[in-house]
This record gives sequence, C-alpha cells and structure tokens, in this order.
Amino acid sequence: MASTETQAGGHAGGAAADERVISVENPATGEVIGTVPDLSAEAVAELAARARAAQPAWEALGFEGRARVMLRAQKWLIDNAERVIRTIVSETGKTWEDAQTAEISYGAAAFGFWARHAEDYLADEKVRTSNLIAKGRRLVVRYKPLGLIGVIGPWNYPLTNSFGDCIPALMAGNAVILKPSEVTPLTSLLLAEGMRECGLPEDVLQVATGGGDTGRAVVDEVDMIMFTGSTRTGRLVARQAAERLIPCSLELGGKDAMIVLADADLERAANTAVWAGFMNGGQTCVSTERIYVEAPVYDEFVAKVTEKARRLRQGVPTGFGTVDVGAVTFPPQADIIESHVRDALDKGARALVGGRRREGPGRFFEPTVLVDVDHSMAAMTEETFGPTLPIMKVADAEEAIRLANDSPYGLAASVFSRDVARAEAIARRLEAGAVNVNDALLNYAVLELPMGGWKASGLGSRHGAGGIRKYCAQQAILVSRLHPRRDVHHFPYDARRSRLISRLFRLLYGRGRRD
Ligand code: NAD
Repeated sequence: MASTETQAGGHAGGAAADERVISVENPATGEVIGTVPDLSAEAVAELAARARAAQPAWEALGFEGRARVMLRAQKWLIDNAERVIRTIVSETGKTWEDAQTAEISYGAAAFGFWARHAEDYLADEKVRTSNLIAKGRRLVVRYKPLGLIGVIGPWNYPLTNSFGDCIPALMAGNAVILKPSEVTPLTSLLLAEGMRECGLPEDVLQVATGGGDTGRAVVDEVDMIMFTGSTRTGRLVARQAAERLIPCSLELGGKDAMIVLADADLERAANTAVWAGFMNGGQTCVSTERIYVEAPVYDEFVAKVTEKARRLRQGVPTGFGTVDVGAVTFPPQADIIESHVRDALDKGARALVGGRRREGPGRFFEPTVLVDVDHSMAAMTEETFGPTLPIMKVADAEEAIRLANDSPYGLAASVFSRDVARAEAIARRLEAGAVNVNDALLNYAVLELPMGGWKASGLGSRHGAGGIRKYCAQQAILVSRLHPRRDVHHFPYDARRSRLISRLFRLLYGRGRRD
C-alpha cells in the first residue's frame, strides 16, 4: 500500500529502534496502514541543527535556483498524483475528488505560484521620504529569510494545510521543519521524498513526525512558527512563541456563515451550500457551518438543500466517483459532531436529512441537514467540523448580519444575492477575514488574495505578499551617499541653530489647514 511504502521511505529524522511510534489508521476502514516515529525533543533538536547547517547554501541558490526545484516538484506532483491521492485518502478517509480538487490542485498551483512570484514579493523596495533631514539618502526595505521555519499542521488537509505552507517558506530561502498531524503524517513524508527526488538539498526540508510534544519541541527550535490547527492549540503555540519572542502566524478554527437573501439564485445557493458544507466531510476550516436565510425564500431553499443532501453517497472511497462524502478523519471529532447534533435535537431542532453516526467498520457521520435551529445550540455557535448544515430562518438581512457576527470566530463567510452591489456591501459588514459573494470556499484557491482569520480564527495570513514576507526579517537600510563631516543636528548644540530649526518647523508644519 502506498502509505506504508511512504512510511518505509520516509524521512522522519532518525528515530532509534527503541523510540515510540504512532500508528496511522485509515478512518474509512479502521485498518492500521503504517507507523511513524513519535519524535522526542532531542530528535527535533538534531533535525534543527541539520536544517540550520543546510540553510545558507539553499538561500545562496537564489530565487531562480529554488524556483527550478519547485517547478520540478510541480511536475512530480502531477506525475505522481494518483500515488499522492491514494496516500491522502488512506489516512484521511476523504473522497478521491476532495483529495484532487482541494489538495493536488492546491499543491500544484502553489509550487508554480511561489516559484514565479517569490522574487517580486521579496524584491528590495525603494522608499522615498518627506523627511527633510533624510532627503538625499537611499532608503531601501529588504527581506531576508529568517533561517529555520517550523510548520505545524492539522489532519484535515495533509497536503494543502501542512505541506502547502512549506512552499513559500522554502521559496523565501529558509529551511523548514514540518510537523504534520500525528493523525495524517504519511502524506508529508511522501511529499518530502518527492522534493528530494526533485533536487531539494538534503536537510532543507525535514519532517518531524509526532504528537503535541513534538510540536512543542519544534516551536522551541525554530525562528518562526506557522501553525494551522485548533484555536485552543493556537493559543498555546502563541504563548510559547511569545516566551521565545519569535513571530508566529496562526490559521485557526472557524464557524463560517452563509447568508441567503430573498433575491438570491436559490439553485446556485443550494448547490454551493451543499458542496461547501459537505465537501471533505465538512472538515474544512472554511466549510459552511451555518446558514441564515431570509424568510420569504426559506422553505424553498431548505427544500432544495434537503433534496440535494439526500442524494449524497457516503462510504469507503475506492476511486474517482465512488462516493460524495467520506469518513470522519479524527476519532474525537465524531463525538463532537454527534454532541452538537444531539444538543440541537434536544433543544427543538429537526434533522431533515441524516442526524446519526453510522455503524462501523470505519468512522462515518451521515450528511445532516438541521432546521429550527437558533443560537442557544452548539451547532450554531461552536465549530462542528463535520457534515452538518444547520439552516436558520431570519426576518431580514440585518438579522442575518447580526447573527453571522455573533461568533468568537471570523474566518470566512459568504453572501448570496442577485444584487451583487448590495451583497458586497453586506460582505464588508461581516467580521470575517475572507468573504465570498455568490460563492463559497473559492477565495482559498486564489493565491494572490490573503487568507487569514479575524478574532479567534487566527493571526496573520497566508497567500499574497504577506504570505511570504512573514517568513523573512524585514530590514530597513538608509544609505547616506553624500556625507558631510557634520549634520545640523549633531553636537555641539547651539541656540542660534536651534532657533533656526524652530522657524523651519513652523514653516513646514505650523501653518495649519487653510480652506
Ligand atoms: P490541533 O490544534 O489539535 O492540532 C494541530 C497540530 O498541532 C497537530 O499537528 C498537533 O500535533 C499539534 N499540537 C498539539 N498540541 C501542540 C502544542 N502544544 N504545541 C505545538 N503543536 C501542538 O488541530 P487539529 O484537530 O489537527 O485540526 C483541526 C483544526 O484546525 C480545526 O479547528 C480547523 O478549523 C483548523 N484548521 C484551520 C485552518 C485555517 O486555515 N484557518 C485550516 C485547516 C484546519
């Protein structure tokens, strides 16, 4: 099996025979498909030393040299797409389409995007100043790779959300230690192997497999930490980064709202809602997790969503087109999904579709449509991260906006209306880092747009210029090309000169506004 091969050929950093191991399970079948080392802090420190030794030569290769490796990796990913999909599917239980649409396509696009744009985003920026004292100086902002980046990832997208963040970090000239989720480490090992085949120098990218302790050890070793995962762990990582005074970028949980206005194209809104709610089994940070529909179209919208959700096929993914909704990847997640649905039903909600965990083997929760829901229910206020779509009737757009913003999270949201100007005006009032109008999830695939959460959904962002500059130290350089022996502000201070400067200030800044 591909995943077991991956483990055997993996590069998890020299685990000794007596070291602890972690078993990796296929969530759709319950079978154990491989084991990886659970690396100790000492082993992580060893990886870090090797990475630091390898980094200067990688940086010295320049953008063109690094881009060549990335473009070879892009081709490698497409050439090996089926092997990578099999590995992703085997450790996540997601469908082949989810692995292809949201992981292979992301990885392939990201290799090309960062190979082409890194140099522009990180080019020296010439700056002009209005400060008279600094006039004539050459002013430059430059970006220098920080050195060693730690990337810690979650289990829901082993390629996109774990490995994906390594690409800009590497293109900036850093070495990287990737700590994938202990639930889904095999994809990272396979991709690291692929990168080496494509000419990435030894030790520039290393995979540190293990659990939370290994993650903590990574934060202790690196110069910057890129973390994707739950808000709870994100706070711990931020605290540890603060102790070390290293920058951290956090992509955390969400409770994304969709607003459907009375003039929306209901067919498109329903198709999008069902896909954005159930793709990847609802285990996407930007999954649609709650829907607010204006009263006049509520019944029609619910009928459409219900009819489409009933037709979804769920089961063990064995190839393209075999199922629409896969398994629940993470064992405790099934309990959370079940508790949210039960809590909603206990408080008066109705499940029009699904509502139950399925019998094993494998771990599945039925695609579930809930109605008669409100904000007293966890299903509407806490991250469910499963195949559930609670739909709530609202009187008007104002109520929808108020409820959408009634959340500690602020990751993404969507608004559906034929009046796109009005929908955009509503988008601007939503407290979310990314808002789609007449779409959902799509913003994530647009690498030119920053993707980052507000409120408890994160700090910083990925993609766009900020998505690579964060892996660099910013240095401001001021060069005095003309350098007289003494400037007017130098010692010794002298009253006549100081009064002249006062007059100059009055002339420059003291005239006030003249209408
Ligand atoms: P998690 O927080 O449990 O684990 C994430 C990673 O952190 C894992 O690799 C884990 O081993 C590691 N870890 C655990 N404790 C740690 C510690 N103290 N220090 C350092 N690392 C530690 O999250 P999860 O359950 O794997 O992922 C699901 C969550 O991720 C959901 O909340 C989802 O919304 C979020 N997510 C967010 C985005 C985004 O872009 N905003 C993307 C994908 C997933």
